[in-house]
Amino acid sequence: MSVEGSKWKRFLLPALSFLAVLLFSCHSNPEKKIIAPQIKTDSAILKSSPQKDTIPDTLKTIYLTFDDGPLPGTDAIIRAFDREKLPATMFMVGKHVQMSKSLREKYEMAYRDPFLETGNHSYSHANRKYHTYYRHPEKVLEDFDRNQAFLHLRDKDARMPGRSSWRVGNRKRDEPSVNGASAADLLHENGYTIFGWDLEWFHKSQSGKPQQKVEEIFEQIQKRISNPKKCFTPYHFVLLAHDEMFQKPWEQNELKQLIDLLKENGYKFDHINNYPRK
Ligand SMILES: [Zn+2]
Repeated sequence: MSVEGSKWKRFLLPALSFLAVLLFSCHSNPEKKIIAPQIKTDSAILKSSPQKDTIPDTLKTIYLTFDDGPLPGTDAIIRAFDREKLPATMFMVGKHVQMSKSLREKYEMAYRDPFLETGNHSYSHANRKYHTYYRHPEKVLEDFDRNQAFLHLRDKDARMPGRSSWRVGNRKRDEPSVNGASAADLLHENGYTIFGWDLEWFHKSQSGKPQQKVEEIFEQIQKRISNPKKCFTPYHFVLLAHDEMFQKPWEQNELKQLIDLLKENGYKFDHINNYPRK
């Protein structure tokens, strides 16, 4: 062997035996960990950052719900969700269907549409006299049953007019300052699942003009979705809007912008029928 060769041998042999000891110790004792140098990698920085509670995008579900249809504006919502090929839920009022041929057609459009689900929002919408309406729970039940049959609704998914009450599985919640809890209990006993809302996109009562900016709505959703006090089922967010809000092109554009923001941030869209029932 040459001088060069023996030099390599002198260097290589101890190095190889050190490696063998190292490998053996790692495999023979899974508890034993090699202490890594204290340099924070990107993933280590992410894990230790205050945003560690950020949930995987696939777990955030949004239920976009539209109340009081059919109304002028219902068709714009149907077109928006058809274009996006995304699900949404419309809680409908039977009385409005009977008001004109055009409103009946809008109802039928929504009912047949594969991306939209229709739910029960009562036949009369309490004639907008909510306090009186909820003083008679048995009449409320009658009103919902009438709507259920009149609109040929497939599921007993319902929303009470003017009240964000929830009766989902064995969980319930009511607004503390208003009546309606007894009516919600009676509806639930008769097979209805009652959905309130986690946030309302407000509008002006005459013009239907949306009030909060799209960014504001999106920020509120992001803030509230993991908070059990602000979101009835954490990570499952129900947004309430109304059909009359999206009659003008700029208003339709607002809806499109919200859908885009939710999509870009990994939200899953779903029908209220798929909301967790336990
Ligand atoms: Zn309503």
